[in-house]
Parts: sequence; C-alpha cells; structure tokens
Amino acid sequence: MGAETSKQELLRVYEKYRGNNPRLKRELKRLLKKGEDTKDIFLIGAVNYYLALVSHRLGHRTSILSYAIKAVSMLDQTTDYDLISRSYNLLGIGYIAQEDYQSALNAYQTAYQTVCRHRNCTVGKDTVQNNIAECYYQIGDYKRSIRIMTGCFELAEKNKDKDPEGLAIYGINLSDCYESVGDCAKADEYLDEVESVIDRVENSIVTGAFYSRRACVAYKAGDMERGTRYADKCIELVKNATDTYELHRDFEKIAHAQIRAGEYDRADQFADILLLYSDHTGHVLDMIIAYRVQADYFQTIGDNRNALAYYSRLNELYEKHRVEEKAMHLATRKKIEATEKAVKSLMRKIKTSQESAEREPLTGLMNRTALLKTASEFVERAKRENKKLGGIFVDIDFFKQYNDTYGHSKGDEVIRAVADACRKENSASVRFARYGGDEFFALTLGRGDEALQKSAARICAALREAAIPHEKNPKGRVTLSVGVANITLSGGDETILDVINFADKAVYQAKASGKDTIYVFELNRFDESGRRSPYYRVDF
Ligand code: GH3
Ligand code: MG
Repeated sequence: MGAETSKQELLRVYEKYRGNNPRLKRELKRLLKKGEDTKDIFLIGAVNYYLALVSHRLGHRTSILSYAIKAVSMLDQTTDYDLISRSYNLLGIGYIAQEDYQSALNAYQTAYQTVCRHRNCTVGKDTVQNNIAECYYQIGDYKRSIRIMTGCFELAEKNKDKDPEGLAIYGINLSDCYESVGDCAKADEYLDEVESVIDRVENSIVTGAFYSRRACVAYKAGDMERGTRYADKCIELVKNATDTYELHRDFEKIAHAQIRAGEYDRADQFADILLLYSDHTGHVLDMIIAYRVQADYFQTIGDNRNALAYYSRLNELYEKHRVEEKAMHLATRKKIEATEKAVKSLMRKIKTSQESAEREPLTGLMNRTALLKTASEFVERAKRENKKLGGIFVDIDFFKQYNDTYGHSKGDEVIRAVADACRKENSASVRFARYGGDEFFALTLGRGDEALQKSAARICAALREAAIPHEKNPKGRVTLSVGVANITLSGGDETILDVINFADKAVYQAKASGKDTIYVFELNRFDESGRRSPYYRVDF
C-alpha cells in the first residue's frame, strides 16, 4: 500500500482522470471494491461522493441520488467534514433532480449546518444558502426564499468587483421571487443593481437570464415598451436553443406577453426556441411549455382549429407527465430503499469485522489496539469536558503456578472468569480490555475516586465468591491484585501512559503487601506529618 493513504490515492485518481469520465468511473469502481474489501468506511463514502459528482456532470439524475445517499451514510461515520458537507450538498442536488424539494431542503440544511460548524469546509456557505433558497422557491415559500437570498445578495455585493456573476445570479433569482409575490418595483430594484455589473459577466446564460428577467418584470408591470426592448436584447444574446434550458419559464412568459400585445413576430422567436428545445430533449415538461405558447398564439389570432389541436395535445401531455412523474417517484423510492438496504448490510458487515478485529478472542474484551483507540477518545474528552481520567489494573495472583498445577486450559477458564467479572463493570465510561496474559485494564472517564474503588472491590468480591480452588495460593483460591488511579489532566503533557503507569504502581504495591488486595495510587497525597504517601489500601 506504500505511504499513500486511501484519500491521497483517491484524489490522485480523480485529478488524473477527471477529463475522462468513463475511465474515471472505472478507477472509482476499483477503489470502491478496495474500500469494501478493506472495510474502509471513509474510502467507500468518498468514492461514492465522486461517483455522484460524475453522475451529476453526466446528467444521470437517479444515479446522483443513490451514490450521494451511500456517500452521506458512510461519511457521516467519519470526521471529514469537508466531504460530508459536499456530499450533503450533492444529495440535495440529487433530490432536486427528482423534483423532491422537501428532501432536498433537508439535505441542504444538513450541508449548511456542517459548513457552519467546521471551518475547513470548501463548499461556500452562500452556495448552500442559495440552494436552500431555491428549495423554498420551488415549494412556494417565497418569503423565506427572499430572506435567505437577500443575505446571499448582500454578501455578493461586497464581492462584486471580483465576482460580478455571483451578484448577477442572486439578483436575478431575487427578482424572480419578488415578481412571484407581485412586487415588481422590488424586483426591478435588484435588476438595476445587476445591470451595473452585467457588462462584466461573461457567462451568456447569465446575461441571457438577466435580459429575459428584465423583460418579464417589465411586461408584468405593464411597461410593454421596456419589456420589448429587453426581450429583443435577450434574443440577440441567445444563439443556441440548447444553451437556454434555465430560461424557458421566462421565455414562456415573454411569448405570452408579446402574443397578448399582438407582437407575433417577436413572440415567434421565443416560441421557436421553445419548440426547438423540446424537440431536442423530447422531455414532456419542455413540450408542455412549447405547446402552451403555440395554443395561446392560435387562440389569440382566432385559428380555433389549430388552437384546439394544441390544447388536446396538451391534455395528453399533462396526463403523460402525471403518469411519468408517478412512475419516476415510484422508481426513485424503490432505488432509495434498495440503496439504504445495501448501505445497512454493508455497515453491519463492516461493524462486525471491526469489532472482531478489536476484540480479544479468549475473553471477548477489547484488545490493546482497541484500548489505545478508546484512550485517545477519552483523553480528548477528558481535556475538553474537564473530566477525570482513570484506570483499574487487575492482575491474577500466582497465575503461573495455577497453570503449572492445573494445566493451561483450566488457566484459560480462570482468565475467562476474571474477564466476566471485569465485563460486568463495563459502561460508556468504563471500558475493560485484556491488557496482557493475566492482566486486565479498564480505562475510565469522568468517574469519581470512590466509584472506581467500588468497581475494583466488586471484581475482587466476585472472585472471592467464585472460590476457584488454587492450592498454590495461600488463600487456597484464585485471588486478584488490583491497582486504581484517577487523575485530572492539568493541560500539560500527561498521556494515557501516566494513568496506566500509576495504576500499575498500585498493583505492584498490592503484590508487595501480600496480594489479594486493592491499592490506590494518588500522586499528591500526604500523611499527617506532611510526608508524601501516595498509596492506600481499599477493603472489599
Ligand atoms: P503474580 O502473582 O506476581 O501476578 O505472578 P503470576 O504468576 O500471576 O505472574 P507472571 O507474570 O509470572 O505469570 C503470568 C502467567 O500467565 C504466565 C503465562 O504462562 C500465563 N498466561 C499468559 N497468557 C495466558 C493465557 O492466555 N492462558 C493461560 N492459561 N495462561 C496464560
Ligand atoms: Mg499475575
């Protein structure tokens, strides 16, 4: 595997093949397999994110959704907040493509919260905000949409010298919202601001959108002359029908306004673009828009035969759309369910294999590797939450002699019996591990000194009750020596090793004082005469 981490490999693959989608997809699938084989949750999640991204670029609508669902379910278990936020943003895009705006809204909101909480996220807050506003717009909640978009617009205003296109997009969207709530004056105000930067915007879709927006607002406000001037300017800019996808709703409005004003030649230009585009995509919604304009035109000029033909064709299209939409939602639902099932089963497999990799086979307790993982989690939380970090060290007395007397497999039974007594003390804040041959160690977080001593006492008492015969032990049965330590991290460079070391010292003291006992180690403890006295005994 070399020094390259899976993340580095993934980024390298992405950069290398980003211009070649089929190859990129193959490489990503290879990495996905690798992630599944090595149970690498991060890699699986990250690859799914990139697969979703490629689907988005290729316009494969349903795949965006299923890859993004897999990406977020995996990445949510990791701490790569940048990828988490990007995946949720993409999940939103996936839902938008399915016209499921409520689910999209949820996804974008999660993306937004992640971006706000973690500084290293590369998705712009305003990008996500804009997406959220788009959802509200689609749901018909124009007021919320306006409120959020106004924030984006104000941010873009500060940045308009560097990024005039940003300001233009927000201004255009805001004018759309204000027009929808009937406030043409406000819509015009934003478009005036956009007009001051529009010469510097190079993206022809944005400039096209700007002039068609201006025309729509002017027509809606009843200013036919101004509307026509902007509509003409828009037509000048639009060279290719296939580039105008996002403008069609406005084009339809313009065409209707021009038909009503008797400007048939002008309306024809927009109507032609809509027809050409619907021919190009064959999409029902595009046809509906195009045919509505045709029907309106024929009805207005009094050609009832043609008008009727278009209206009846429109009825068929509406019905077709309804059926298609239902089928699409059903198929999407099915796909989502299948994806969620696959994710669950994969997670289960990963979890089981992780757990067995972290468990010690004889006792089922954590092994040392797992203990170290818990240690770093506990140390971090002890510092952050200002909690005590503790340890309980348990060692079987005269165990070598037990093995020598009763045999190794009887020895194994004793180890299991001690492990069971330890396991009973396990909780979210007490985690026992098998530390070595006949040694057990629990790491504790935020437990009081007395609680720790009580745990130790219960374990010793359990062994006393079990009364496992041991003729080489002066007590005649298996006994334990236990050491306890509980420290407050001073914010210096204490590590988990200090806790282990202190508890180990206490065990040593227990052994030295005759075994079958519990000792506590407290670094700064003094006796009446002021002498350092770090050890004391606990009864059980
Ligand atoms: P003390 O009272 O000072 O703790 O002495 P001890 O004999 O218990 O400790 P020592 O460290 O000398 O011996 C531990 C023994 O544990 C040695 C080893 O053979 C035994 N042991 C280690 N792992 C296992 C195991 O998995 N099963 C069995 N049956 N014995 C084990
Ligand atoms: Mg021992």
